[in-house]
Amino acid sequence: MSKASTLERLDAEFAREVEENQLRLRGSLRTTYDFIVCGSGSSGAVVARRLAENSDVSVLLIEAGGPDSAPEVEMAAAWPLNLGSARDWGFTALPNPHLNGRVIPMSMGKVLGGGSSINVMLWARGHKSDWDYFAAAAGDPAWSYDRVLDIYREIENWQGTPDPARRGRDGLLYITPPTEPNPVATAMLDAATELGIPIFDDVNGSMMEGPGGAGYMNLRINNGRRQSIFRSYTFPLMSQPNITVLPGTLVTRVLIERGAAIGVECLIAGRRHSFKASKEVILSLGAIHTPKVLMQSGVGDAETLASLGIPIVQHLPGVGANFQDHIMVTSCIWEYPEPVAPHDNGGEATIFAKSAPELDSPDIQLLQIQFPVATPELAGRYTIPAGSWGIFPALLRPHSVGRLRLTGTKPEDPILIDSQILSEPGDLTALRRCVDLAREVGNAQGLRRFVKREVMPRALTSAAMDDFIRDGVSTIWHQSCTAKMGQDDMSVVDGRLKVYGVNRLRIADASVMPRVPLANTMAPSVIIGEQASRAIAREHQL
Ligand SMILES: Cc1cc2nc3c(=O)[nH]c(=O)nc-3n(C[C@H](O)[C@H](O)[C@H](O)COP(=O)(O)OP(=O)(O)OC[C@H]3O[C@@H](n4cnc5c(N)ncnc54)[C@H](O)[C@@H]3O)c2cc1C
Repeated sequence: MSKASTLERLDAEFAREVEENQLRLRGSLRTTYDFIVCGSGSSGAVVARRLAENSDVSVLLIEAGGPDSAPEVEMAAAWPLNLGSARDWGFTALPNPHLNGRVIPMSMGKVLGGGSSINVMLWARGHKSDWDYFAAAAGDPAWSYDRVLDIYREIENWQGTPDPARRGRDGLLYITPPTEPNPVATAMLDAATELGIPIFDDVNGSMMEGPGGAGYMNLRINNGRRQSIFRSYTFPLMSQPNITVLPGTLVTRVLIERGAAIGVECLIAGRRHSFKASKEVILSLGAIHTPKVLMQSGVGDAETLASLGIPIVQHLPGVGANFQDHIMVTSCIWEYPEPVAPHDNGGEATIFAKSAPELDSPDIQLLQIQFPVATPELAGRYTIPAGSWGIFPALLRPHSVGRLRLTGTKPEDPILIDSQILSEPGDLTALRRCVDLAREVGNAQGLRRFVKREVMPRALTSAAMDDFIRDGVSTIWHQSCTAKMGQDDMSVVDGRLKVYGVNRLRIADASVMPRVPLANTMAPSVIIGEQASRAIAREHQL
């Protein structure tokens, strides 16, 4: 038997063991666990694993979504098929006057693994300045770049050019540059060189300490298959008796008594259940539902909660405020003379740049996409050939900040996303520069052999270009910052991610980011999970 088929057989045996164990554990649910982790996404999956590594600790991991065994999850190239599926919460933002009144989708993962099971699998660690900003906001050097670098080195299994000062080789997380990059990705780097943009061997190495550059993406893909955070962290421990993973279960409320979280209330197949936590409850429901559940539990702005008839437990006006996201223009497109099939996830090359020379770090990014994608508004205006490729011009440092609004007390009452995207005029200015840069790159000599013609936007008047941007903006799905870590009145958690004024309640997910980092948000969410786990282990002497 070949090595590959032996490994496949062992994997199948282990998967059966996990299934049997979890069926057993779910068949005899306890009323009390030491820790209850709510949400199995990029942060929650990490916390659940780290706690369950200690066999004396019992962990209940609750997830609203279902299994992650669908081929659309597993096969890297199939990621777009998850959008709008049952594995997507299907959030939309409110109609936005700055986007010509458009209602834009705000997909988030509703499945074991959360975003890490439906996302584009890019591993981007964040800029040095982001982590130093987090440390300053928290007043805690544990969040500084140097300290976070230690965690990254510990958890990564980096397959690219060795960089022992920054990249680890022995960790849980398989991370690789594209093994056979699409020639159109290589050509984008040639075009960048032509424009004087420096090329880096690793976009997560020294490049993330300086003013920008270009390179191949880091991918969470092995042999064409997605490596979700849940599969890397939680799944390998699921044959143990001390971790119960409960999918299909909606957390509706944190139960709080005398200023401390004592458990959670949830719905299983429409029926109400509650579970107690003898040590802590950790909310990892993502940046939309963590604030929702907090508010429905009485933790939020007192006046807002009173207007909805929710008894106030803790006045924290920052819950649901400070909504941030990355946006991109979907998209600049060129027709291939001869179409080239996408490789990996269809997006392997990137450029980070500054929209203005005086900035101290990059604030715009170009993401290549090896097949055509357009918003319905732009698709209605241009004829886009199937054999095309594109560049997403993206804004990394948005100044527009939105807010979430609760509409009622019931679990089915939606939370409204008032994104405020492009409400700050400076964001439009930066995006204009970003579209210009995308066109300079796409029309450069280095990419000429992949260009029959520029499909869109082509040269436009400035008013028409603004209209193109407003009609083309979509989210990069980096919703964050809605229960921020910090020390001011709008902060919701402290540097150890404990909710102010509520004992035994912690938040570990993208909501705690004080600002959205210069990166796709999965890797920073993993760091948040690691930081929460380390703080818990210290405080509970685990
Ligand atoms: C389509 C898409 C593409 C993306 N591409 C990338 C990329 O390529 N690289 C990158 O770095 N980032 C990417 N992201 C973003 C990244 O996946 C997220 O930032 C990251 O997963 C956030 O982690 P989290 O733990 O905060 O939340 P999530 O990963 O969203 O996890 C939250 C979990 O909580 C569950 N949950 C929510 N409410 C409840 C409830 N009431 N009860 C029980 N469970 C609940 C959810 O179902 C989910 O599993 C993408 C996201 C999407 C949606």
